[in-house]
Amino acid sequence: MKFNTKAIHAGQEPEETSGAVMPPIFQTSTYAQQAPGVNKGHEYARVTNPTRTALEKLIAGLEDADQCACFASGCAAMDAVIKMFRPGDHVIASDDLYGGTYRLFREVFEPYNIRFSFVDMTDTDTVQEAITPDTKLIWIETPTNPILRVVDIEAVTEIARDKDIWTVVDNTFASPYLQKPLNLGADAVLHSTTKYLGGHSDVIGGAVASSNEEIMEKLRFQVKTTGAVPGPMDCYLTLRGIKTLHVRVQRSVENARQVAKFLDAHPEVDQVNYPGLPSHPQHQIAKKQMSDFGAMVSFSLKDDSVETAQNFMAQTDIFLLAESLGGVESLISHPASMTHASIPKEVREAAGLKDSLIRLSVGIEDGDDLVKDLEQAF
Ligand code: PLP
Repeated sequence: MKFNTKAIHAGQEPEETSGAVMPPIFQTSTYAQQAPGVNKGHEYARVTNPTRTALEKLIAGLEDADQCACFASGCAAMDAVIKMFRPGDHVIASDDLYGGTYRLFREVFEPYNIRFSFVDMTDTDTVQEAITPDTKLIWIETPTNPILRVVDIEAVTEIARDKDIWTVVDNTFASPYLQKPLNLGADAVLHSTTKYLGGHSDVIGGAVASSNEEIMEKLRFQVKTTGAVPGPMDCYLTLRGIKTLHVRVQRSVENARQVAKFLDAHPEVDQVNYPGLPSHPQHQIAKKQMSDFGAMVSFSLKDDSVETAQNFMAQTDIFLLAESLGGVESLISHPASMTHASIPKEVREAAGLKDSLIRLSVGIEDGDDLVKDLEQAF
């Protein structure tokens, strides 16, 4: 089955009792048992719920994975991944990643003595050098949030495989429509389903998909034991959103290309970060591992100050000032004071995140209108 067909049908069957084409929202906390342990596949809704199962099968299908576990948010999914490890274990992550990931690693897990190295993952030698005998995981985010660097998934996963280190790719920015990390060698793929998969800025969720039995067993244990699960209504909304994933992302990418070209030619813009621009340092890697370049664009201004960036953002009408991304509507945000405010200024600057950096999540509106909106904001 090709992707567009999978987005509608992967793992989906009409509901058994009624023939409903969409899975019902199974709003129940528990299930009747015929005798203790004898049931119709579900015992208690923290562990499984049929609406959630339908969503998990769909995401597994899109990521070419055997299994998927859904969580209450992308952060809950990340939390479950790191809880697979033990005090003394070491994780390598990129130095340019979602601020909430950085906060979770540094402020929640480091005090429990899981250790993290944040490195420039676009340089595979640096990754190699960061490996210690305790390294258990390499955490890849690509394209990165918010600088849109691209990590060579095949190259990094190859280094890890040689040393029995697991690799997880946060595929939130690309979506499985544009990038399939498992086919490039990763052991697991993670999503904030809040973003492109849900696609309508109306639900929070997370997911991890993998064909590695040991990883999925550990994650299912987390689901059952810590219970950070999405409710059935949230699963339904995410599932409904995924059915148009390919159509939405395709249109968003076309618009992002137009917006990136416009910004790249603008005299007040210092640098545009978009993997689709031939000037992007990892353009060739993006071309190799992504089927298109995504709909996230970030740019810095020649007048590199927080005030100039905030003044610019105050002028846009269609681009709404808001955190998050991947919805049908275009959003504008200022990472240094919003999504990445939890990263200390010196760490941010060392990773190249400038004060004036503005991040755009390009939606599915008319591309000409989006460009006009930015033009008048300058
Ligand atoms: N991963 C990335 C790349 C993100 O951008 C985000 C949120 O912005 C997350 C994970 C966390 O997801 P959630 O907000 O669903 O907890």
